[in-house]
Amino acid sequence: MRRRWWSVAVAALLAAGTLVPASPAMAAPTFKVPFPCGQSWSGQTRSDHSPAYALDFNRTDDLGDPVVASAPGTVDRVTDLGGTSYGKYVRIDHGGGYTTYYAHLNGFNVSVGQSVGYGKVIGWVGSTGGSTGPHLHYEQRLNGNDIQVRFNGGLALYWGTKTYTSDNACSSATGSGTVNTAGADLTVRSGPGTGYAAVGSVADGTRVTIHCQTSGSTVTGTYGTSAIWDRIGAGRYIADAYVYTGHDGWIPDVPRC
Ligand SMILES: [Zn+2]
Repeated sequence: MRRRWWSVAVAALLAAGTLVPASPAMAAPTFKVPFPCGQSWSGQTRSDHSPAYALDFNRTDDLGDPVVASAPGTVDRVTDLGGTSYGKYVRIDHGGGYTTYYAHLNGFNVSVGQSVGYGKVIGWVGSTGGSTGPHLHYEQRLNGNDIQVRFNGGLALYWGTKTYTSDNACSSATGSGTVNTAGADLTVRSGPGTGYAAVGSVADGTRVTIHCQTSGSTVTGTYGTSAIWDRIGAGRYIADAYVYTGHDGWIPDVPRC
């Protein structure tokens, strides 16, 4: 009976167009230009690039310039392919199926498994692999598929060359708050929603540092109902509805994740 009920219910929901996935799709991370705050780089896209939506970055005398993580995540590849393809490259897993690639690096500044935030130097511009001159080859992928690059939600120029100015980690402001659950521990999750894995807990009354805020699943807590989630560490999110921040809603000056 249960099974039958589900199939009927699912069919009805599908018909109504309101089927909610069991595991929420994570909104795309807010990707930033992969260079330190304030730097301007020429970014080129071209239809004969491999993969097609990759961006090649250059600026004057760029050999050895630092390359930074374009969004928070976990480094899951630090690989040297020698004189072919990407050469020395780093891949960062941002969760929700999103990854970024940084290729032809001169050297590495991170290791596999390392958590990185905005602005973290992951390596240096080089010309390793199948490259004919120093540049950064950069990709955004979703579930392994090359996607059109976006910075702060805005599409990169396809096709052509454009100057991109970095606002990556320009705001180092953090917020703080106090967890108030009236007793119970508050679950820490790997993403901004109750559908994400529990990765720990914080006790009632704990003072937390809030690195950034993002919207996720709606939670009703001590301070009302809110879809805001606070990132209190790499891959660690708590529902803002249980955190006293002194602000109703978004905390001014704290960046969006
Ligand atoms: Zn390239």
